[in-house]
Amino acid sequence: MNLVFLGPPGAGKGTIAKLLKEELNIAHISTGDLFRDNIKRETELGKRVKEILASGALVPDEVTIAMVDSRLKEDDAKGGYILDGFPRTVAQADALENMSSVDAVINFCLADEEILKRLSGRRVCKSTGRTYHIIYNPPKVEGIDDETGEALIQRDDDKEEAIKHRLEVYQTSTAPLIDYYTEKGLIIDLDCSGKPEDITRTLVEKLRK
Ligand code: ADP
Ligand code: AMP
Repeated sequence: MNLVFLGPPGAGKGTIAKLLKEELNIAHISTGDLFRDNIKRETELGKRVKEILASGALVPDEVTIAMVDSRLKEDDAKGGYILDGFPRTVAQADALENMSSVDAVINFCLADEEILKRLSGRRVCKSTGRTYHIIYNPPKVEGIDDETGEALIQRDDDKEEAIKHRLEVYQTSTAPLIDYYTEKGLIIDLDCSGKPEDITRTLVEKLRK
């Protein structure tokens, strides 16, 4: 099954993708994670996009599309995938049509107030990318990753100015994709206000129908 996770930053796409990929045994492809991995490894791509990610702006379409095109050609994506954070513009959605056939687009629905709480409380382990929340999903020891013992960090783009910018970018560039995919009959709305396990169960039921 080929799925797209569409929704504002902080709605819980990565959290649900990690649970659903186990359930459906498909690949989880997060463009944000791919960019952050390149930044960490200081690749040419990483150097090019570092400042863009920190500011909360979008990486140019041609760069993002080329990265996804090559990732979808890897073996694990052939048995199905969750695209998390891609497409984010109409140009990316048009490009995806030429790369692969999407079965459903999950529209993550969450009130703005809750989005802000989730983004501002998110903490991550820089080396593994594991995500926590200071209130909703805290580590066993405050500020420390459960597995590696490393200090957790706040993403640069989870700081106040960048959050504001990212939410504006979502409204302007990404939200139009809800209509785009509704017209194609692919949208499944998902209420993301509950617990991750319950949201995932609801999503599996919706996908089975
Ligand atoms: P996205 O991938 O959409 O940007 P994340 O999955 O990283 O969002 O989630 C954003 C933050 O909200 C994280 O700190 C995560 O732990 C927390 N979170 C995710 N889903 C839920 C949920 N259902 N209830 C409470 N907190 C959540
Ligand atoms: P995310 O982890 O999905 O919140 O993405 C983090 C950042 O990576 C975004 O704010 C953008 O700077 C960049 N990014 C991720 N996916 C895309 C995309 N599809 N198009 C452009 N930029 C993206």
